[in-house]
Parts: sequence; structure tokens; C-alpha cells
Amino acid sequence: MKFVPPVLFLLFGIALFGLWALERKLRFAMTLAVGFCVLSLAMFSQFAGLPPDIGQNAVISGFLYAASMALVGDGILQRSGKRFPAWLAALYLAGITGGLWYFFYIDRNLIARIYILNFGMGLILLHAAWRARFLFAGTWTDKALLFLLLVSGLHFFPRTLLTIRSVTMPTTPRQFGETDFWHALVLSTSIIGAMGGLCLLAILVVDIVSKLRQERDLDPLTGVLNRRGLERQSRRLEKVEAGSTSVIVVCDLDRFKAINDTYGHHVGDTVLAAFAEIIRQNVRKQDIVARTGGEEFVLVLRDISQDQAFGFSERVRKAVEKTRFIGVSAIEPVTCCFGLARIRPGEPLWASLKRADKALYQAKRAGRNQTRAEWQADPAGAMAARKP
Ligand code: GH3
Ligand code: MG
Ligand code: MG
Repeated sequence: MKFVPPVLFLLFGIALFGLWALERKLRFAMTLAVGFCVLSLAMFSQFAGLPPDIGQNAVISGFLYAASMALVGDGILQRSGKRFPAWLAALYLAGITGGLWYFFYIDRNLIARIYILNFGMGLILLHAAWRARFLFAGTWTDKALLFLLLVSGLHFFPRTLLTIRSVTMPTTPRQFGETDFWHALVLSTSIIGAMGGLCLLAILVVDIVSKLRQERDLDPLTGVLNRRGLERQSRRLEKVEAGSTSVIVVCDLDRFKAINDTYGHHVGDTVLAAFAEIIRQNVRKQDIVARTGGEEFVLVLRDISQDQAFGFSERVRKAVEKTRFIGVSAIEPVTCCFGLARIRPGEPLWASLKRADKALYQAKRAGRNQTRAEWQADPAGAMAARKP
């Protein structure tokens, strides 16, 4: 029975490894997997009495316990691009291992060792929780992870204080294994550990699914949404924003085929990525940017007036005209056209897209490098911003 917890943690470790193997970009899953395996090893070492020398066992299993906590804390921080610093982990490990060594070999004191190990583990997790406090403002999975760190870190303190009275000194390892302290320790570690492991697995699955979803909706070359992503976003938009004023913008690079033919497909790709970046730098947070075709982008500018949308398009157009794209001769600047249409209330995105396309076509016909909007009266348009 006593080997149930270490086997359980080993299984969690293996499951976490499996998920990491599925999606290797989630490196934190590997750190968590190693953390759970080390925790399992610490328990095996302690429960099986390996190494059999009590002093060595206390120091080695204590080191492994502390290391597993640091790894779990680091794994959770890594998920958000942060780390549990190595020097801090080393400091905790040295303090805990040194304390265990001292209170066995110099001043033999079981109670002191229990305090050092349990409070040490709790402090490591709470320290990680402190560094991860920004998760409180995050998604529900972020909050769950922070809660998990806090609960598992805090539980070491009351558990140790409540049960330590049952440990009588001196005691043999066998007697120690029969104390209430020991039973409470194994039980609470198993419950907290199993709940933590299950939570971590569930959160990892959610992370993987949302990452796959994101990849499915993104264009790998430019990092903006692809057509599918735009469709999904626009469906959500139609539901939420029946009465709002949004403008749809279609933009298309001028004579892009010639850029490909002259400089090669690779340079064409670089131009596309740089073009998307210029757009991204000019849109607001609430706007949607998608690459819907080869060199065609669709933007949804939300809550914006017609004039503002026109001004935005002109800003981007001029920025593109001024940009010196890598690999492209400065003599022939890269230019683009914009077609604008208002999204009518309740209208599906594709209907407004058609009207924006028409405006774009007019811009192309009128000589390229310009912006046209459906609300301009005349194709020869007074408002058309032509290159001087
Ligand atoms: P216009 O000014 O009328 O828009 O002329 P254009 O040459 O830009 O238009 P056209 O639609 O004829 O050509 C688009 C070109 O885009 C054709 C294709 O080779 C190129 N293209 C499509 N997708 C990609 C891509 O992912 N990378 C690169 N480098 N080129 C692409
Ligand atoms: Mg084009
Ligand atoms: Mg095109």
C-alpha cells in the first residue's frame, strides 16, 4: 500500500511526458514531468529505505523532495515564459539538504529535520506562487495553476504543525512509520499530489487544444489570421455586434506577381511578412487582421467612422510606399491598394467583403497605389487618395 503514492506520481510523470511528446513546443510539460518523476523517486527512496543508512536516506530523499518542488514550480512558471531562477533553487536545495545533514550528523534531531523538509518544500512552492502572482489576472487555467501552487505550498504548514506532536523522540524508522504524523503525511501528500497531477494534466490538455486551434486559425507566414480564422472571428462578431459601426478593408499588393518573377518567391514571402507587420503595427487591439489569399489581406476595423477608416488605410498605404523591403530595388517601391466598405448591421461578413472587393477593383483600375471606399460617389473619386 505504501508504494501507491510513488507509483501514482510516476504515472503522472509518464503522462506528462506523453503530452510533451505530442506537443514539444510546450517545454514546461517536460519540466513538470521530470518534477513528478523526481517526486516519485524521492518517495521510493524514503519508503523503501534506499539507501538503507538512515542519515544518507534522510539527506538524499530530502534533496530529491526539494528538487521535485523546485521543478514543479519552475514548470508552472515556464508555461508563462518565466522561470524559477536556478540560483534560488540551488539556495533552497543547499539550505534544506544542509539542514537535514546537520540535524542528523551533528545534532541529531528528527523534529528539526521534519520542520526543515516540510517548511522548505512549502516555501519553495509559495515562492514559485509569489513569482507567478501575475497569473491571478489571467485565464481560468492560469488562476487554477496559481491556486494549485498556493494550496500545495500552504498545506505543508498546518499539516506539519498539527501532526508533529504525535512524533515521539527518539524513535526508530519502524516506529516513525507508525505515527499519526507519518500516516497524515502520506495521505495528504497523496491527495494533494493526485489533485495537483490531475489538474496539471487537464490544464496541459486545454493548453494543447488551444494551441492547435490557434495554429489552425493562423497563417504561418505572416502570423495573422487565415481565412478560417477570419470566418470564426466574424461569426462571433455578427452575434455580438449587431448595432456597432465597423468597416471592412481589403488590401492587396500591387503587381505582386512581378515582384515574385523579378526577385524570386523567397523575396515575395519576405515582402508579404513585412507587409503584414506594417498592418499589424497600425491596427488597434480590437481590429481583426487576416490573410485571405496569396497577397490579399482583409481587415475588420471595429467601432470606427468612415473617415477614420479611410485615414487608417491611407496611413498604411503611405507607410508601405515608404518602406524599403529587403531584397527589392528601391527604384520600384512596393505599393498596395485598399478597398473599403461599411459592414451593415446584421449583414454577413462575406456580403460586405464583396462590396469592399469592388472598391479595391476600382482602386486597381484607377492606377493602383490608392484607397477607394464604397461610399465614394464617383469611381474617379474626389476622395481617392492618389499618389501625387
Ligand atoms: P495586382 O496589382 O492586380 O494585384 O497584380 P498582382 O500581380 O499582385 O496580382 P495577381 O493576383 O495576378 O498575383 C498574385 C501573385 O501572388 C500570384 C502568386 O504567384 C503570388 N502568391 C500567392 N501566394 C503567395 C505566397 O504565399 N508567396 C509568394 N511569394 N507569392 C505568392
Ligand atoms: Mg496584387
Ligand atoms: Mg491578389
